[in-house]
Amino acid sequence: MLSVSETAHVEPADLLGRYGSPLYVYDLARVDRAVADLRQALPEGALIHYSLKANPHPELVRAMRRNGCLPEICSTGELDSALEAGFRGEDCLYGGPGKTADEIGRALAAGVNTFSVESLADLARVGAQAQRFGVVARCLLRINGQGTGAGAGLRMTGRPSQFGIDLEDVAVDAQMLTAEGVQVIGLHFFPLTNAADPAGLIAEVVASVRTAAVLQRRWHLPLRLLDLGGGFAAPYGAPGERPDYSGLRAPVEEVLDEELPGWRNGAPHVSFESGRYLVGDSGSLFCTVTDVKESRGTHFAVLDTGINHLGGLAGVGRLPPLRAEPLRPEGRPGRPSELGGPVTLTGPLCTPADVLSRAPRAVPPEPGETLCVPNMGAYGLTASLVGFLSRPAPAEVVVDGGRVVSAGRLELRRHPLRCTPGHPGHPGQPGHPGQPGHPE
Ligand SMILES: *Cc1c(COP(=O)(O)O)cnc(C)c1O
Repeated sequence: MLSVSETAHVEPADLLGRYGSPLYVYDLARVDRAVADLRQALPEGALIHYSLKANPHPELVRAMRRNGCLPEICSTGELDSALEAGFRGEDCLYGGPGKTADEIGRALAAGVNTFSVESLADLARVGAQAQRFGVVARCLLRINGQGTGAGAGLRMTGRPSQFGIDLEDVAVDAQMLTAEGVQVIGLHFFPLTNAADPAGLIAEVVASVRTAAVLQRRWHLPLRLLDLGGGFAAPYGAPGERPDYSGLRAPVEEVLDEELPGWRNGAPHVSFESGRYLVGDSGSLFCTVTDVKESRGTHFAVLDTGINHLGGLAGVGRLPPLRAEPLRPEGRPGRPSELGGPVTLTGPLCTPADVLSRAPRAVPPEPGETLCVPNMGAYGLTASLVGFLSRPAPAEVVVDGGRVVSAGRLELRRHPLRCTPGHPGHPGQPGHPGQPGHPE
């Protein structure tokens, strides 16, 4: 449950006064707790990869480093965040479909040497770049397995997918073992995400271990790293607790002992990945009600934050529909609406898509009032439509133990590029055809 007054002696009102509204606040003490909870639920000694996709803020990534996690990255921007947080290139696992030769080259140049590959062409591309750098890249083959049919969450594989190599693709054998510049050192599974039902998730992980053992035998793989993915859920934009996955350790250790008995001695190393579970409850978005109105019997409260700052991915169906449930900053729910009915919460963007909640929630409908959207540490700002309507991003403040660790603001800027070599042909140049004439 969100209780800002408990987590931070830095009062939200003070922070809002200093950094303005809307405002993201992340609490590193909560990140520490989430990592500890996950570590306890996993097989003993398992590695934890933090998926920067959930929140690439370098201070959060630094907290992961302090907690012994490793970065799982999918872009050169995420690589930059990992390096800024003090990780070395060789700590990173670089994955994602459609890696270009250029980005693979940039990753290798920064010292990255472990890649998760999503197809044989991806493997070949990593190999070709590695040869240019005179190195051998360690690769995990991401497998699109059959899955168990666990229903909860967003299924990533088990059906036709841009992710991974189909389990039944027997053409893999010869090709992958002869690829130049790479050494296949393991397997990567990520069948589903946001699985709130621990039993379904456990069944999925157990199935992945069995599949890994079958593939190791069939392909004679030197299995050194087995990345079992994750799918650990977290509440999003509404009050709630992270699910309890403590039932996972025993059955997964058991199937590992049975299928891959060397795992306790690091043969293979076993790894899991998580984004939202590790940072979801560390973040809150504070915002302000700017207008309250009624239209044909429906009440609307317009906030100074919208899908440009939160929940952008919900609009395209990649996250559960947002049901923002703002609280008073002290952690109490807003008092029942005196308007006598549900209040639709909207953002300030000029699109009917900018709705944060239609749920019949009671919100304090007073203009000027501060609200707090809890559990916004994952898939918040950088998963939103930050460029749409060209509003400034909210400031992001990181606190730890009641102390402000960092404050900053993400900026989206248009940098001029050279049109022709040697001529910076941007609209600021005299004589540029796009330059509007100013009357003298
Ligand atoms: C998105 C993603 C993750 C992180 O997912 P969460 O639900 O935030 O834990 C981990 N691994 C892969 C391969 C992903 O695509």
